[in-house]
Amino acid sequence: SPRVGVLALQGDVREHVRVLTGLGAEVVPVRRPEELDRVAGIVLPGGESSVIDKLSRIFGLRDPLRKAIAAGLPVYGTCAGMILLADRIVDGIEGQQTFGGIDVTVRRNAFGGQLESFETELAVPVLGEPPVHSVFIRAPIVEEVGPAAEPLATLPDGRVVAVAQGALMATSFHPEMSGEDRFHRRFLDIVAS
Ligand code: GLN
Repeated sequence: SPRVGVLALQGDVREHVRVLTGLGAEVVPVRRPEELDRVAGIVLPGGESSVIDKLSRIFGLRDPLRKAIAAGLPVYGTCAGMILLADRIVDGIEGQQTFGGIDVTVRRNAFGGQLESFETELAVPVLGEPPVHSVFIRAPIVEEVGPAAEPLATLPDGRVVAVAQGALMATSFHPEMSGEDRFHRRFLDIVAS
């Protein structure tokens, strides 16, 4: 099976490693550019996007990651990882940047703070039945989907919470926290193809 990475600068790295390992993938934490060179795909975990952004520059990973994404590296981002994959963000902290790749505008903390975290059963047509038990924690929302990106799931009120573009995929919520592995399966399928 192909070797995949989880960006391991900050956030819920272990949860992603557990899901991917459970699916039979060889998984390595990625903190250095050399480690990025040796993976066929990478997951960007949930956490705090502004911190991951800063640490990626300190670790010299930001530019290699941007290049790898532009060159077609498969990437799956959850929550903070979705923010990092967005071409545009609103409500970023001072100076916050993203790696980009998906033609969307994302708003951070769109549902409010920690107390406004919630869980819901979400229909995701590309995954079929059953719906995805999805956990939203200080989650971002996709405010605008540009022509290059494709929405994968919307809340009942129409707000977009999952998107894809080529080999890139991102969700506002955390499948890795609810025993849901179909997004990770899809990511591994993209890596294998
Ligand atoms: N609010 C966080 C951010 O802006 C994301 C929260 C999460 O990843 N659960 O990065």
